[in-house]
Amino acid sequence: MNDKPLRGKTALITGASKGLGRAMALALAEAGAHLALAARNLDQLQQTAAAARHFGVEADVFEADVTDESQVTRLAQAALARFDKIQILINNAGINIRKPLIDFNLAEWRRVLDTSVTGAFLICHAFVPHMKGQGYGRILNLSSTMGHVAIPGRTAYCASKTALLGLTRALALELAPEAITVNAISPGLIGTEMNLPILQNPELKQQFLSRIPLGRMGKVEEIGALARFLCAEAAGYITGTDILIDGGWCAQ
Ligand code: NAD
Repeated sequence: MNDKPLRGKTALITGASKGLGRAMALALAEAGAHLALAARNLDQLQQTAAAARHFGVEADVFEADVTDESQVTRLAQAALARFDKIQILINNAGINIRKPLIDFNLAEWRRVLDTSVTGAFLICHAFVPHMKGQGYGRILNLSSTMGHVAIPGRTAYCASKTALLGLTRALALELAPEAITVNAISPGLIGTEMNLPILQNPELKQQFLSRIPLGRMGKVEEIGALARFLCAEAAGYITGTDILIDGGWCAQ
């Protein structure tokens, strides 16, 4: 069995300083991929890069807010100058603002949509032209169970994650002739900083756990393992779809 299925590939991952972005970065590095890591703050991102280098790959960091077109353009120029070719894009940056719709202001609504959806658009717009003609490519978009089902207080988040599924399907069709696959990953509840409001509230946490058929939260490493598989040659016939990894939440 090939223990470095991504050797020779380079992945660009947004929001890679912590949480799922960091876990996917380390999983891809373990599989042999070089990494271009992007986030708004370089300090934590450097730690992800240092951990990745222990797997013997090259990893570099780039400061960029994915909602800002000029920053994404500069990111693409810098990352492609550093790595020459990038074959894997992981649109992971995302935020959640939890409250009833009527309490949102327009700026907050836009921030949620801009990060997940417009961020993925800008990153794909900047990198896809350079991914063509290689006979291999992978784009992963981090959606959510909230792209499939809903709970109250998640209007912006659900809208953003559902939109990302539409982007995923349409872009998959556009890029199929290039053998660039485009898929979404839809996690359920994973123990990251994004979920601190749930994790730090024992009653709320129990409510969530009681709704998960497997009876536990997901582990960041489980998302890393899925990303690694979807990027491998073995997953080359999977495109335009979405993998739920939610302990059974959406099966109910
Ligand atoms: P997190 O908050 O721990 O990390 C998110 C990362 O995105 C951070 O590094 C943050 O700095 C970065 N980011 C946010 N806005 C950005 C911007 N404008 N430009 C660049 N980077 C930006 O969250 P996480 O739990 O690791 O989630 C990662 C992705 O997975 C998100 O898209 C999230 O919506 C999705 N997701 C997470 C869960 C979960 O349970 N943790 C479940 C479903 C989906």
